[in-house]
Amino acid sequence: MSRYIATRAIRGANLIVAEAERMLKEAIAELGPDTPVKFTNTAYYLPVILAFTGREVSKLGDLVPVIEDAKRILHPIPGDKLWLPYLGETLDCGMATLLAEEAIEGIRFARGLEPQPITWEGSYIPSTSFTSPDMEAQAGKRLNGPIDDIQLRAWGIQLVDGRMPGFAAIVGCAKSNEVAVQIVRELQQRNILVFLCGNVNGRSIIHQLMEEGVEMGYDTYIIPFGTDTIAAIYPLGFAARSALTFGGLKPGQAREILLYNKYRVFAFVLALGEVDDLKYATAAGAINYGFPTIADTVIPQILPTGVTTYEHVISMPFDDIEGKDDLERAKKLVQRCIEVRGVKIKITEVPIPVPYGSAFEGERVRKADMRVEFGGKYSRCFEYLKMSDFDAVEDGKITVVGPGFEDVPPEGSMDMGIVVEVAGRKMQEDFEPVLERQIHYFINGASGIQHIGQRDIAWIRISKAAAEKGFKLEHFGKILYARFHGDFGAIVDKVQVTIYTDKAKMEEWLAKAREAYDRRNRRLADMTDESVEEFYSCTLCQSFAPNHVCVVSPERLGLCGAYNWLDCKASHQINPTGPNQPIRKGTCEDPVYGIFSGVNEFVYQHSHQSVQQVSMYSIMVNPMTACGCFECIAMVIPEANGIMVVSREDPSMTPAGMTFSTLAGMAGGGLQTPGVMGHGKYYLTSKKFISADGGFKRVVWMSSFLKETMAEELKAVAEREGDPDLIDKIADERVATTVDELLPYLEEKGHPALTMPPLF
Ligand code: SF4
Ligand code: ZN
Repeated sequence: MSRYIATRAIRGANLIVAEAERMLKEAIAELGPDTPVKFTNTAYYLPVILAFTGREVSKLGDLVPVIEDAKRILHPIPGDKLWLPYLGETLDCGMATLLAEEAIEGIRFARGLEPQPITWEGSYIPSTSFTSPDMEAQAGKRLNGPIDDIQLRAWGIQLVDGRMPGFAAIVGCAKSNEVAVQIVRELQQRNILVFLCGNVNGRSIIHQLMEEGVEMGYDTYIIPFGTDTIAAIYPLGFAARSALTFGGLKPGQAREILLYNKYRVFAFVLALGEVDDLKYATAAGAINYGFPTIADTVIPQILPTGVTTYEHVISMPFDDIEGKDDLERAKKLVQRCIEVRGVKIKITEVPIPVPYGSAFEGERVRKADMRVEFGGKYSRCFEYLKMSDFDAVEDGKITVVGPGFEDVPPEGSMDMGIVVEVAGRKMQEDFEPVLERQIHYFINGASGIQHIGQRDIAWIRISKAAAEKGFKLEHFGKILYARFHGDFGAIVDKVQVTIYTDKAKMEEWLAKAREAYDRRNRRLADMTDESVEEFYSCTLCQSFAPNHVCVVSPERLGLCGAYNWLDCKASHQINPTGPNQPIRKGTCEDPVYGIFSGVNEFVYQHSHQSVQQVSMYSIMVNPMTACGCFECIAMVIPEANGIMVVSREDPSMTPAGMTFSTLAGMAGGGLQTPGVMGHGKYYLTSKKFISADGGFKRVVWMSSFLKETMAEELKAVAEREGDPDLIDKIADERVATTVDELLPYLEEKGHPALTMPPLF
């Protein structure tokens, strides 16, 4: 253990704890101890404090014992003479630092100072970039602040199944804007979340990326937390919540939470620029989690000891990194970070002239930045994946039939059709739509390319930047070829892609594609639970809800919305020992409630004997369990003789007296709770939606988000149920957030639930 680091970290910890105490006293004197302290959109209070002390901080006064906790684990700065080179003191001080930092953020929230407004005050800004329109648009907005629970959940499955390896917390400011962009791009290409905070002499990597016009936000996996070191507490709070949410751990289980992070959460701290005392102290906090710090400056290192398997603090002075220029040095710096944390990242090499990775999926290409578009208002674009005979497909063949976009004027549009033909011994026609839907994700992975929609309403844009780097039509083929082999190699042996821009050829294939879409629609619409012999299980979420099993049938999709029956079937073929297993239905014990002997046996066995019976079509009797990923929660409102459906996107109060995040605690965890159920959005449109309890007509309240985003589908349901105005009769948060407001609304609209047989 370096005495230099220990001294500086301990000094930083003492200072920040004293600062937190001072700020708290001041805030309590000014605002009173009952002033609320709350991070945005989370049910985990101040998560680091909750995780490690079990304290539920909700007002300023609650922070007083937290500061006492921090002071108790502080150690004095080592004297010159006596020095015990123990890591322990430094780690304790690191933990004290985290408690103090989160307390400070809590106090700032109480004062309305968080999330931080975006400002360049006191920082060096070249005057030219300051006037760029993007920067002016940014000024006055706020940075991200803590990550929402919704977002934590949305990333959860990807973190759990390894598609997203973890996160990099970048603190400080890079050598140049160019280097900042390169570092972030390298991380994005590996699907690593990029968390930004800190500054060096007032200038932050957040400023650097803004100046370069890099899009930041949940969609691009780049989260700007705050321009000071204290904001580093947000990524650590995210890690703490991951352990609570996905690790099934309880607040206060400090040791288990740290171990979970060490072994399950791949993360590291990248310190750019000069490291001051507070950064040393915060790094010591991160080391508690098993997250190493890599610095691009000269600092003493903390190398592996007998107890630890990898380095804690690594120094990699930027200018000493071998490389022909700064961009190459940035690349190597990121590689080193990944090696240090020791993670295997599976990336499919996609040979195209622009960066590629899922992190680019959410990128938008604005009209002004667009070179050319296919589909949208002025042209047509379709995509069609079909299974062909083995000999009819030439693996790796990519053809463009018709002209490229060279002659299209800038910001113009043209017609295009993408036809993917695949062959494989395990390929089935049923998989066509599942694979075809991947085209959206695959193409969106290219930086500077935007893909929206599917089938014959696809809409693709190529940015000017991508076109300048040499992106051409054939590159769509290269992407699809590489990804279908990489991700679906188990069912696909050969892939051939043809891009049609020639008018006549394109029309010819569009007609064929439309025939296929039509055939599939009919087949899917015809598919009922009665028409198949097997349902599928999904146990993907058992890594964090060990007793939960999703039973997926043609008429009931998985509660996360990500897996329907066909997806599960395909997934089983791709990975026969994976989380999606066929479940023989066995004897139907009750067709109304949807009780099947085979389902009961499977669920009993795979829930570790905790669930004996599941009814597929009821919320009242043995409803299906839930992990925590549900898109919606349905809950009975006894007074209204019906149910309400709250969607994850809806933060408002519901007539049950609880918000989504509070309800989530009741619905999740793999327990059966009659009257409460988590489910996927599209289950709402199924004929089997709580059909045993009266079906969709029972819905008396529904988040307006669902009404709006599923307007078309819900209208069709209302018509099917013989009550075309039904959606209008259903209340939402805009008209009722209590039962007292709900009942008169239902009366006035004549909602059918009021006259249906009693639920109880
Ligand atoms: Fe988890 Fe169920 Fe979705 Fe599978 S279907 S990922 S078990 S929520
Ligand atoms: Zn889940």
